[in-house]
Amino acid sequence: MECIFCNINDRKSEAEIIFEDEHILAFLDIQPVNYGHTLVIPKKHYDNFLTVPKDELDKITHATQFIAGVVKRSLNADGFNIISNNGQSAGQSVFHFHFHIIPRFKNDFSLRPAVKNYTSGAMHEYGNKIRSILSKYKDIYNG
Ligand code: 5GP
Ligand code: ZN
Repeated sequence: MECIFCNINDRKSEAEIIFEDEHILAFLDIQPVNYGHTLVIPKKHYDNFLTVPKDELDKITHATQFIAGVVKRSLNADGFNIISNNGQSAGQSVFHFHFHIIPRFKNDFSLRPAVKNYTSGAMHEYGNKIRSILSKYKDIYNG
């Protein structure tokens, strides 16, 4: 399947690459929320956060921390968002896992979603729902 980020990694498509090592590639987003908005991808293709193997994810996370610091410093940003959209309903449009690093400046933040309030007891119900599945998957977490 054709993947734009694999093509960028293979140099079949152009991108403003700012960093790479053996495992990851970082380049500027073509439609930035703010100038300097950077994407960090694994060189290998994984669809989303859940399908990236742990050792690979460790490397991507480490690189993202490093690059976020560099982006913040070089642009004199006040802060930054690290975002990963997973699934179409969450806004994912390129199905090759990536972290967004979005530099932020005073008073430019407009991403805050409308929030909900739990009705009485509902928070506990949601906690139970999540915990019941969590107990089934705990062994995977513990390796
Ligand atoms: P997503 O919507 O999957 O979270 O993020 C995909 C991002 O990739 C978008 O912000 C979009 O602007 C960026 N993007 C899509 N196609 C290209 C491209 O060809 N080159 C670059 N540099 N960025 C792209
Ligand atoms: Zn890909």
